Amino acid sequence: MTQATNPQSPLKLYKFCPKCGGDFTHRGGNHLQCEACEYSYFVNQAPTAGLVIFDEARRVMLAKRKFAPYKGTWQSVGGFVGLDESLEATAMREAKEELGVTVRIENFLGSFPEVYEFGGVAVPFLAIYFAARIVDGTPRPSDDVAAIGYFTREELTELDIPYPGLRKILMDYMKHPQ
Ligand SMILES: [Zn+2]
Repeated sequence: MTQATNPQSPLKLYKFCPKCGGDFTHRGGNHLQCEACEYSYFVNQAPTAGLVIFDEARRVMLAKRKFAPYKGTWQSVGGFVGLDESLEATAMREAKEELGVTVRIENFLGSFPEVYEFGGVAVPFLAIYFAARIVDGTPRPSDDVAAIGYFTREELTELDIPYPGLRKILMDYMKHPQ
């Protein structure tokens, strides 16, 4: 399974104000506040775009990660939304970077709060999934992808998928052939 780590929530780890260096106090929920300058910092989920792509046999395409974190696990193609990007732009960019293809987004599948373990921090992210179709190019692993694979619903149960939400959405979506 995934690497054994003990990541901590930013609510516990972030102790100092990024504006003045004063001490943070946890005000409840996702709210940290500086005792010195009263600046409020909210720990929010970072959105990600994930693409669910099928082949002609309606097996789902997943990408095997080449690097840590989660090296060797299988994930959807996708990634974090950039500071100046829409979800759609992120999805298009990631498809290009990871597979070398152009995709068309077909429909929204759902979203799940998840945790991304990075540098000892449990980074909260909102995994947002779309069904997509390849409209140009042949998928080939590139960038941070070690391999791409196509899996039936049965094969997914044996696969090391680090995100429970992704597994759930695939199992649900593939229950009914379309
Ligand atoms: Zn401050």
